[in-house]
Amino acid sequence: MESKHPETTAISSGRPLPSPGSALNTSISLNSTYTAGGEIGYGRFGNETWSALEATITELEHGTSTLAFSSGMTAISAVFSLLPHGAPVVASDQGYSGTMAILKKYHEQGRLEVRFVDIANTKDVFEALIGAAFLWIESPTNPGLEIAEMSLIIGEAKKRNMGVAVDNTFATALNQLPIELGADISMNSVTKYLAGHSDVILGSLTVKDPALHNRLAEARTLLGGVPGPFEAWLALRGIRTFPLRFRAAQASASILAAKLREHGKVSHLRYPGFGAIISFEVAGDSAAADRVCEASTLITNATSLGGVESTWERRRRWPSESESVPENLIRLSVGCEHVDDIWSDIESALSVL
Ligand SMILES: *Cc1c(COP(=O)(O)O)cnc(C)c1O
Repeated sequence: MESKHPETTAISSGRPLPSPGSALNTSISLNSTYTAGGEIGYGRFGNETWSALEATITELEHGTSTLAFSSGMTAISAVFSLLPHGAPVVASDQGYSGTMAILKKYHEQGRLEVRFVDIANTKDVFEALIGAAFLWIESPTNPGLEIAEMSLIIGEAKKRNMGVAVDNTFATALNQLPIELGADISMNSVTKYLAGHSDVILGSLTVKDPALHNRLAEARTLLGGVPGPFEAWLALRGIRTFPLRFRAAQASASILAAKLREHGKVSHLRYPGFGAIISFEVAGDSAAADRVCEASTLITNATSLGGVESTWERRRRWPSESESVPENLIRLSVGCEHVDDIWSDIESALSVL
């Protein structure tokens, strides 16, 4: 089937078939059990509201099926749960702190043999791929916003018959389609842009291979990291406007990145030219960066990203953040407020320096 534009898919997918008098929206299916003989059986095996959300993400990601999880982290954990004990895994040395933490822990425990590489250094990635079983890509990385040469490294991993998963949370399906680039799995923290309103925690895995789908579905059922039907419904409701929100935020981010780059108190600005996350360093130490984050009145000083509201934070306020991230680095998640209002808030916050 010819893919529709994402704006259309986001709105038209995951709805009941229309018939006279039928509801437009999928209902919130609050059921832990089902009469015997049907498809689902028990509420940990499946749910009609999840299915609608999953169908919509599948279409956006150009996959063949999607599994929704209770969080991005349970989705990530389900992927690693499929790997055999001690499997050699190549992963970026910079990335989402939860992913980094779980990979480091598994490495220390000997459950996986993780080869951490600079994912933007294709030569190093190629070397690390020799003899490896699985490649985990995050691009752009968090919070450095480095970019991997996706099609090259996925192509090389596939030549070596490796499994490949991509965390697509920052780029989103509007900028990057990992399944089309040859990856086996496209993972999303639905919490972020897809749901988009800072009111749910959810994750997803989109795949193209039915056998892999079945193994991941079994992992979800057995690990039990299933989404709540209400959260799935909220995420589906959020996805209806995801392309509109994301395009608006992205357009503002590129304007703000250009203005920030010219600002005398800002250095080392990272913006890959797409997406709605900008990282930059401010003149001074960690206390100076804290003062800036606390001085904003529109942008909330908070972690997370991808909501309609702009947020920023000094990343190293988290003890778990990598020491390679500078103490004075601020990560800004550009929301959907008017770009002029966001800019005047940033300017006045930077004036405390
Ligand atoms: C937030 C995030 C995750 C984890 O998702 P949760 O929904 O918080 O569990 C994973 N990867 C990236 C890039 C994220 O931003």
